[in-house]
Amino acid sequence: MAGKIHIFDTTLRDGEQSPGVSLNIQEKLQIASQLAKLNVDVIEAGFPIASKGDFEAVKAIAQKIEGPVIAGLARAEKKDIDRAWEALQYAKKPRIHTFIATSEIHMQHKLRMSREEVLKRAVEMVKYARSLCEDIEFSAEDAFRSDPAFLYQVFEGVIAAGARVINIPDTVGYATPIEFGRLIKNIKENVSNIDQAIVSVHCHNDLGMAVANTLAALENGAQQLECTINGLGERAGNAALEEIVMALHTRKDWFSGATGVITEQIHRTSTLVSKLTGVSVQPNKAIVGDNAFAHESGIHQHGVLNERTTYEIMTPESVGLKENQMVLGKHSGRHAFEERLKELGFSLNKEEIEACFVKFKDLADKKKTVSDQDLEALLSEKITEIPETYVMEYFHISSGNKTVSTSTVKLQKHDALIEEASTGDGPVDATFKAIEKAVGMEIILAEYFLKAVTSGKDALGEVTVRIRKNGTLYLGRGISTDIIEASAKAYINAINKMIYTEQEDKGE
Ligand SMILES: [Zn+2]
Repeated sequence: MAGKIHIFDTTLRDGEQSPGVSLNIQEKLQIASQLAKLNVDVIEAGFPIASKGDFEAVKAIAQKIEGPVIAGLARAEKKDIDRAWEALQYAKKPRIHTFIATSEIHMQHKLRMSREEVLKRAVEMVKYARSLCEDIEFSAEDAFRSDPAFLYQVFEGVIAAGARVINIPDTVGYATPIEFGRLIKNIKENVSNIDQAIVSVHCHNDLGMAVANTLAALENGAQQLECTINGLGERAGNAALEEIVMALHTRKDWFSGATGVITEQIHRTSTLVSKLTGVSVQPNKAIVGDNAFAHESGIHQHGVLNERTTYEIMTPESVGLKENQMVLGKHSGRHAFEERLKELGFSLNKEEIEACFVKFKDLADKKKTVSDQDLEALLSEKITEIPETYVMEYFHISSGNKTVSTSTVKLQKHDALIEEASTGDGPVDATFKAIEKAVGMEIILAEYFLKAVTSGKDALGEVTVRIRKNGTLYLGRGISTDIIEASAKAYINAINKMIYTEQEDKGE
């Protein structure tokens, strides 16, 4: 079992299917580039036939991201495979990932195909995909609930047809660790040509056992583990990458084999994914939750101060958490600022540094000290910039506990200035209504979330909003030391993203 363990990240495909998550190309590229820094082996970039936006994102990632294998998903259908290849062909290491369901329940009710038809289709489509691309992964959807004997037959067929990786998903999160491990062992023993393929697993977390099942599979011969950052994914999500990787890292005494993941990049990756998807991480989440390394109890604190290993099985530094020092302030110069950005791992060009420095100076005027978290918040706002159809020029509110809140906003759209005012249920509501009037759209606010980036009275406030149009949700973020301003920025950001995404989908 020893040797290299391949980490297949599907944050951008399965993770992006989480309710309420929709990432645009810029955001997907940003995450993909961070996944490359994390050094995962495979990035599943999307499902190209699903939409124009998905196709363009996979293509852009294939063109720009170097290092990992870039995979795209395709049903076992010619048009899906063609579309996937169209997007993937630019990658240095492309992989077509094709799938078909093999459980009775899926074959009968979803596919309406017999076993023979499914087997024939799987083999034919792997052969076809192989005629386009060297590296083919085949998944038997709902494998865990499939008849094992049929599963062996399908895997044998697709390996003979040229599949390099066979994936065994627990699509509905039904397995338990011992059973799932046994299934992997049986596949290894009963598929005659299994040595010619890498065995992969893909576990869902409906019963909270995705990581446990994945590790059980590893102990029984799986070599590729599919997972997502923060366990993101449909329903209860997928196996969490950070938990799998840190379990293997911390328990080297138990598990053999190693991943190539640079664990020090875990925290940054988790924060980025959480910010861009708007899905926050629960505080007690293993590895990446805010409290994962916090020692509250006096006895624990005392123990850790004397000897860290008394209560600490891994160090915060090993996942890239650094002691938070207040480093910069109003008098910090450009040089200190640039140095700090480098230390934080951001690589920006001259103009980007200049633009960020202006923002930093602005912030330092309002806040005594600018922490690393503040800088990261500022930068993540900068690096995921999209074309801004609307820019806020000015806003003014009047509010109080015995008056009706009124808000006036002035927005710039290209060369035109639009000013509107509205009353509302509190200053945020009044401001949102004024913005709606100015952009001339009816917008449904689905979610509003305010969080302090750091502690202290002058902390930066970060507002996340989700707006809904035609059934699609768009996420907007805004930061400021003023929460009304942060709210207005977030709202306008969401509107700009909606406009940008609609243009992207139309292929404009
Ligand atoms: Zn899945």
